[in-house]
Amino acid sequence: KQPTYTPPPAKYGGRHTVTLIPGDGIGPELSGYVRELFRRNGVALKGNIETNHNLPSSHKSRNNLLRTTLDLYANVIHCQSLPGVRTRHSNVDIMIIRENTEGEYSSLEHENVPGVVECLKIITRSKSLRIADYAFKTAREKGRSRVTAVHKANIMKLGDGLFLECCKEVASGYPEISFDSMIVDNTTMQLVSRPQQFDVMVMPNLYGNVVSNVCAGLVGGPGLVPGANYGKDYAVFETGTRNTGKSIANCNKANPTAMLLASCLLLDHLKLHAYAHIIRSAILSTLTEAQLHTADLGGHSSTSDVVQSIMDAVQSAGPRTLSM
Ligand code: ADP
Ligand code: MG
Repeated sequence: KQPTYTPPPAKYGGRHTVTLIPGDGIGPELSGYVRELFRRNGVALKGNIETNHNLPSSHKSRNNLLRTTLDLYANVIHCQSLPGVRTRHSNVDIMIIRENTEGEYSSLEHENVPGVVECLKIITRSKSLRIADYAFKTAREKGRSRVTAVHKANIMKLGDGLFLECCKEVASGYPEISFDSMIVDNTTMQLVSRPQQFDVMVMPNLYGNVVSNVCAGLVGGPGLVPGANYGKDYAVFETGTRNTGKSIANCNKANPTAMLLASCLLLDHLKLHAYAHIIRSAILSTLTEAQLHTADLGGHSSTSDVVQSIMDAVQSAGPRTLSM
């Protein structure tokens, strides 16, 4: 009779965490197959990876490579006024849906002759339809009433014209959601003067970068707003404005909120809504009741003060094992 074997206890909630050490030689390729066999998880939480700007123009940043190789075509940033955070405007609640894989981020630049540079912006019908559909689908799921396409089709007649056409086409399939469009320059002016007029916004890559930074600024800055990148198979969560924050690294000064909220989006993606809810509530109570604010919000608290308060609030929320 075989002796019964008792496995070692799992440290984290019944789930074993195994570390892979690929080694050198054939190690990485063979352990890679083991990983393939065990299946990848499909989700990640990421900090921004610093880019070396001395590399040739054709070089794609590792951040960009991750988005394109995993085909994370939709960047979603929800900018919402937070109680306890003082800003010029209140009641801001904007969802920005940004095309994340083409447009101006295609790394196609070259100097034809000295002093003349050509820089290509790629807009395709298939990717424009795909992001427009994502925006309308999200609007429908979240009970939103309007989608605004942001463009510069008056100047970029063909490229942005195609993007806008695709948005219009998709809009006709969502009769309960109203659709309008706005030129990007006017959009930024409208955003800083009356941001409450916007609901869901959809736009090509570069405008999305600019507009999401404006919107993050409206609700309190880069330390607060999380961001999500979704594709068909994968999802990557990060801070909304993708800052490296090198100048404040290791100073115990950075606002941890954006990254913690990104982790809540990850939990939501995995349908662990109850856990996401507990952490979000703890973050909110730290901002409002405890009024612990880092320097970017005009406060005097350190990162670890804020995190400790959030952890205390999570602990007092009750038992850690929830029935889902
Ligand atoms: P980029 O790399 O795009 O230039 P940075 O990383 O320089 O952006 O960040 C822009 C500004 O935002 C910097 O002043 C940085 O200190 C600030 N910042 C970014 N993230 C945070 C954060 N989590 N908490 C506080 N300040 C932040
Ligand atoms: Mg910088």
